[in-house]
Amino acid sequence: ILKVKGVSKSFGEQQVLKPIAFEVAEGERICILGPSGCGKSTLLQMVAGLLRIDEGEIEMDGRAVERGLLYIPPESRPINMVFQDYALWPHMTVRQNIEYGMKRRKMNGQHRERTLQRLQSLLKLDGLLDRLPAQLSGGQQQRVGIARALATEPKLLLMDEPLSNLDVKLRTDMRGELARLLEDLAIASLYVTHDRMEAFTVAHRILVLREGRIDQIGKPQELFERPASPWVAQLMGYHN
Ligand code: ATP
Ligand code: MG
Repeated sequence: ILKVKGVSKSFGEQQVLKPIAFEVAEGERICILGPSGCGKSTLLQMVAGLLRIDEGEIEMDGRAVERGLLYIPPESRPINMVFQDYALWPHMTVRQNIEYGMKRRKMNGQHRERTLQRLQSLLKLDGLLDRLPAQLSGGQQQRVGIARALATEPKLLLMDEPLSNLDVKLRTDMRGELARLLEDLAIASLYVTHDRMEAFTVAHRILVLREGRIDQIGKPQELFERPASPWVAQLMGYHN
């Protein structure tokens, strides 16, 4: 579903991402793990089309979405995004938040209503549709954030530390739930996290990013059994 080919990014003098390459298969969940400032959010934003790439190519569904002068904007890519701080529209109800993207994509009323009902039960939003975001708990707000992103039927869901603003208990509950949901919907995802356990729960493969390079990409067990660098070993919880 996604091919990233030799994509790099600099901000001024600083090369934040060296040319990197990887692929995401249909339905595959990849977690991006790495220290603060290594370029995780930058990478996600380039895949989303929120940030232009300096060089290389991004392909989705077998078609280039960015290459040289060619640039397909975010709303025309088969993706959607979930943000760390939920980023819900504060003046819109839950229902309006979820419907917003569907309307922009010109889904008809019947289709919208069916999708809304399905997401309401999948994400346990019963009784919350007419509330404003400020009237919800953090966990409920992030459920709405996820519902809103899924509403547009993306083939690839981009998530930047979606659970990191939640307390530990809720985070642990929701990571399992989220993994099951993505599995059931067979939706591919790129999932940025700081949390190794979260990556182990959610990911088919883990991509370890460090200083703008891919240190290693592989199944969680591979990284655990055969870390490619001392840094990966440390990340996997080995000491010394
Ligand atoms: P964190 O885990 O803290 O979220 P990250 O891996 O997501 O970190 P990025 O946000 O991708 O890191 O940032 C990578 C580097 O690029 C950082 O050094 C950051 O200061 C720099 N950077 C990010 N966005 C910009 C920008 N718009 N202008 C200049 N520098 C930027
Ligand atoms: Mg970040």
